[in-house]
Amino acid sequence: MSDGNDQSETKGRLSLRPAARGDAGHTVDAGSVRQSFSHGRSKVVQVEVRKKRGPGAAPAGAAPQAPSSAPAPALSLKPAAERPAAPAPARPRPATGPGGRTLTAAELATRQRVLAEAAQREAERREQEKISILSAAEEARRKAEEEARLKAEEEARQQAEEEARAKAEEEAKAQAAQEAAMKPAAPAAAAPAAAKPAPVAARPAGAPVRPAAPAARETLQLKPGGRTAEEEEEAPRNVRRPVTPAPKRGVPVAPAKKIGDGNRRSGRIDVQAAIEGEDEKTRSLASVRRQRERERRQAELERLRSDGVKVVREVVLPETITVQELANRMAAQGRDVVRALMKMGVMATITQAIDADTAELIVNEFGHKVRRVSDADVEIGLEGEEDTEAELLPRPPVVTIMGHVDHGKTSLLDALRHANVASGEAGGITQHIGAYQVSLPSGDKVTFLDTPGHEAFTAMRARGAAATDIVVLVVAADDGVMPQTIEAIKHAKAAEVPIIVAINKIDRPGADPNRVRNELLQHEIVVESMGGDTMDVEVSALKKLNLDKLLEAILLQAEVLELRANPDRAAEGAIIESRLDKGRGPVATVLVQKGTLHQGEIVVAGAQWGRVRAMLDDMGQPVKEAGPSVPVEILGLSGAPTAGEPFVVVDNEQRAREITEYRQQKLRERQVAAQTAMRGTMEEMLARIQAGAQKEVALVVKADVQGSAEAIGVVVTKVGNEEVRVRVIYSGVGQITESDVQLAKASDALIVAFNVRANAQARELASREGVDIRYYSIIYEVADDIEKLVKGKLAPIVREKFLGYAEIRQVFNITKTGKVAGCYVTEGVVKRGCGVRLLRDNVVIHQGELSQLKRFKDDVKEVARGYECGLSFAGFQDLREGDVVECYETEIIPA
Ligand code: GDP
Repeated sequence: MSDGNDQSETKGRLSLRPAARGDAGHTVDAGSVRQSFSHGRSKVVQVEVRKKRGPGAAPAGAAPQAPSSAPAPALSLKPAAERPAAPAPARPRPATGPGGRTLTAAELATRQRVLAEAAQREAERREQEKISILSAAEEARRKAEEEARLKAEEEARQQAEEEARAKAEEEAKAQAAQEAAMKPAAPAAAAPAAAKPAPVAARPAGAPVRPAAPAARETLQLKPGGRTAEEEEEAPRNVRRPVTPAPKRGVPVAPAKKIGDGNRRSGRIDVQAAIEGEDEKTRSLASVRRQRERERRQAELERLRSDGVKVVREVVLPETITVQELANRMAAQGRDVVRALMKMGVMATITQAIDADTAELIVNEFGHKVRRVSDADVEIGLEGEEDTEAELLPRPPVVTIMGHVDHGKTSLLDALRHANVASGEAGGITQHIGAYQVSLPSGDKVTFLDTPGHEAFTAMRARGAAATDIVVLVVAADDGVMPQTIEAIKHAKAAEVPIIVAINKIDRPGADPNRVRNELLQHEIVVESMGGDTMDVEVSALKKLNLDKLLEAILLQAEVLELRANPDRAAEGAIIESRLDKGRGPVATVLVQKGTLHQGEIVVAGAQWGRVRAMLDDMGQPVKEAGPSVPVEILGLSGAPTAGEPFVVVDNEQRAREITEYRQQKLRERQVAAQTAMRGTMEEMLARIQAGAQKEVALVVKADVQGSAEAIGVVVTKVGNEEVRVRVIYSGVGQITESDVQLAKASDALIVAFNVRANAQARELASREGVDIRYYSIIYEVADDIEKLVKGKLAPIVREKFLGYAEIRQVFNITKTGKVAGCYVTEGVVKRGCGVRLLRDNVVIHQGELSQLKRFKDDVKEVARGYECGLSFAGFQDLREGDVVECYETEIIPA
C-alpha cells in the first residue's frame, strides 16, 4: 500500500468519522465501546481501531456506520463477517501478516465477537435501565436529562474531536499509511459486531451488564497484544487521542460522568429497590408514622395550594404565653418559633413563657393576626347580661350612714334598726352582720350598711359607697360640719350617691340645725329648706325623734332614683364583711344587688369561692334565698374574701376555680410586688436610719375581720411620729401563714396578730427566722405596744467593740503626767482615746479612757500587737505591773 493511498485513506477516515459520530447518538453505535468497571467507572474505547486495521479506504470509514445501518458497501468487503466470527479474522490475517502480528485468527475472532457483544449488551443494559422500576415521570425526566446530556456531550465531543483531530492530523498523516496497513481487520470487526446477535441473545438475562466490563477490558488488552512494541507506543496515542482525552477537554468529564451516573443510578435504584422491598416487610412503626405525617403535611400543603392563599389565623395572645402554646395557636412548629425568637435575639425554650409584645412580633412574622387579650378575660362573662326593662322590678334602697366620729352614726343605726317592724316582732334579737334591712309598716324596706363610722373604715366606706344608693350624712347639730363630715361628702359625691342630711342630736341644748345647714353650703350641699335639692331631716338618735321622717326621706329619694333590679337571675352583689368564725369557718356578709342568691349555689367572692352551705339573715335566721338589696351571711366559702369585693354566682366549680385561681394569682403578684418594692424601700430606709434621718416600724397585720385589720392600720399609723414612721406593709384576714412570716422577714417587720393565731409551720418559721409575732385582742393594746416600740427605737443601742489587750510590763512615775504604764500589746490594737478597762486577775478594777498613747517619746494614734507603748489613764493612777488593759470602742447603732 502506497503512502499516498494511505494518506487518502486517513483523510477519508478522518472526514468520515464525524459523520459516524453524528449519526451515532449512542456511543456504542458510533464505533466506540463503553466499558464499565467496578465502582461505576467507565471508559469509552474507540472501536475505530478497527479502521486502522481495515486498510480498505472506503470500508474503513464506513465501518463505524455498520452497526447501526449495516451499509452494503462495507459489508461487501466482509461477506465473511456475516457468518460465524472465525472466517472474518481469517481474512484480515493476511493483511496483518506483514506487520508480523501475533494475533491469531481465533484471537481476532474473539476480539470482534467480544466487541460486538459488549456493544449489544450495552444497548441492552440501557434498555433495561429504562424499563427499570423507575416511575414513568422519573423516567421521562431522566430521558430529558439524558437527551440534554447526550446532546451536550455530543457537541462537546465533536468540538473536542475537531480539536484533537487538528492536533492529531499531522501525526496521523505520518502514521496513516503504516497503520492502515496494519489494521485490515477493522471493518470486518465492526461488521460482525452488528451482525452477530446470536451470542448476545443466547446469554442469560442477568448476564449483560457485568460480563460486559470484563469483556471490554479483555478487548483492550487484546489491542496492544496485536501490535509491535513500537506500534504500542504510537497506536494508543493515535487511537485514544481523538476519543478519550478529547471529551475531557471539551465538556469536562461529561461523557464519563454521564455513563458513570447511569451506572451508579441504576445500581442505586437496584439497591434501593432491594431495600424498599425489605422495608415493606420490616418497616418500623415509627417509619410508618413518619410516612403518615409526611402524607398529612403533604395533604395540608395541597390544601393550602388549592386554596391559593395562606391561612391567616387570628392568634389570641394573653399577657404571657409559652412558646409551645404560641406555636400551637399559629399551627406552627415549636422549633420554628424558637428559631424566629432567636433571630430576634430572644433565647427561649419551648416551655418558656414570653410576654405578649414579643409574641405579637412573632405572630406578625408568621403572617397571622394578633388578638391581644388579658388574663382578666377569664372574668369576661362572669357578670351576666344586661337585664331588659321588663325584667326589672323595684328594689329597696341601700343606705350607708356616714359622718364625723361621735356625731351619732352608731346610735342612729341602732335606733333605725329598732324601728324595724320585723325586729320588734322577733323580740329585738339582732345580730351584727355588717348590714341589715328595715321593714316599714308600709311594707317598704330599706337596707342599711352597718359599717361603723370610725375613720379606720374610710377605705371600707369608700367601697361601701359603691354598693350604696343613698348616703345618710349624720351631722351633730351641736357640733356642726367636721373634717370627717367633709370627707364623707367627698366620698358620696365621688360615688355620685345622693345625700340625705340627718341633723342629729337636736335634743341637745346647744343644737343649732341652721348652723349645720349653713356650714354644709360651703361644701356644696344645699338643703331643700335653703332652696337646694338635698333633703334634710332633724333627728335625735337618742330620743328616736323623726326617725320615720328620715326613713320617709330615704324612700322618697329611692323613688326618685327608680331603683330596680331583676330578681329572676343568677345573683350578683358585693361583700360587705367577712371573717373567720371558729366554728363555722369563713363567713361573709354579702349584699345581693341583682338576681336571687339560693342556698347551694356556687359563688365566687373576690379571690374565694364556695358552695353556699347556709345563709343567715340579719336576725341570724336561716334563709333559703336572698333577693335584690338583701344582706345575708353566707357560709361555705373557701376563705374570707376582702370586704367591698364583688361576688357572683357561677355555673360550676370549674369556672369558680378558674376565676379564683386567676384572682389569687393576681393577689400573689401584688404581694410580691409589694415585697419587692419594700426591699427597695427597706434599703433606702436602712440608709436613712444609719444616717439617723429616718426610722420605720414595719408591720404585717393579720386580724379576724377585715374591719379590725383596717382599724389597726389606722391606729398604729397614728402612733408614728416625725422620727419614726409606722408602716403597715400588709394587712389581711385569717391565720398567720408562712408567707406572712416570709413577708415580715423580708421587710424586717413585726407581725401583729389580732384575734388570730399562727399555724404550726408559720410559728416554726418565725422562730427560725427570728420574726416577732405579737398576739392581741384589744386594738388599743396594739397601739400601746407599737408606741413603746417606736419609743424604744428612738433610743440608740450602744454597742461595745473590742479592740485589743495590752499588758503592763512596767510602771513609770512621771512628774507632770503622773503614772505611765510601759505596756506590750498582746492582742489587737490600742487606740488613742479608746475606752479602757483595767483588769487585775480578770476583775475590772477601773473603766475609763486613755489619756496618752506613746511610742517612745512620741504621741501616736494607735499601736498594734507585738509593739511596746506607754499608756496613761485619765484620772486613774493605781497601775500595777501585770495588769491587763482591755481596749474597746463604743458604737452607736440606730435601732
Ligand atoms: P358615732 O361615733 O358617729 O357612731 O357616734 P355614736 O353613735 O357612738 O354616738 C356618740 C355619742 O353621741 C354617744 O354617746 C351617743 O349617746 C351620743 N348621741 C348619739 N345620738 C345622739 C342624740 O341624738 N342625742 C344625744 N343627746 N346624744 C346622742
